[in-house]
Amino acid sequence: MQKLEHIGIAVKSLSDSIPLFEALLNTPCYKEETVESEAVRTAFFATGAQKIELLESTEPEGIIAKFIAKKGEGIHHIAFAVQDMEAEMKRLTGAGFVLLNEKPRPGADNKLVCFLHPKNTNGVLIELCADKI
Ligand code: ZN
Repeated sequence: MQKLEHIGIAVKSLSDSIPLFEALLNTPCYKEETVESEAVRTAFFATGAQKIELLESTEPEGIIAKFIAKKGEGIHHIAFAVQDMEAEMKRLTGAGFVLLNEKPRPGADNKLVCFLHPKNTNGVLIELCADKI
């Protein structure tokens, strides 16, 4: 894996949390994007080499809505950049990790993504992300 790419934070309302993070980080949100397949609306902030991704559910039964109902707002996942997604997925499966996606799927911010089951990672949801070619 390469660097830590971003930290994903589940929020109830982007319209409340974007100004909050803009004030906190002293930098404007550079991108808002809806990922229909994941039922999320995302907002990105550049913080040095890493990014912060805010995630708001677009549906009452979406992944993020369920997460917030269970655990409240807060850190949802951490994402690592990978160069060769297929090779990294194979390596991790071989090492005993469980992937939540059989194939990389389109994520926000021009990325292909794959998630690891948190049961094998001390309860932390890990995202792999690679640049779309
Ligand atoms: Zn993410």
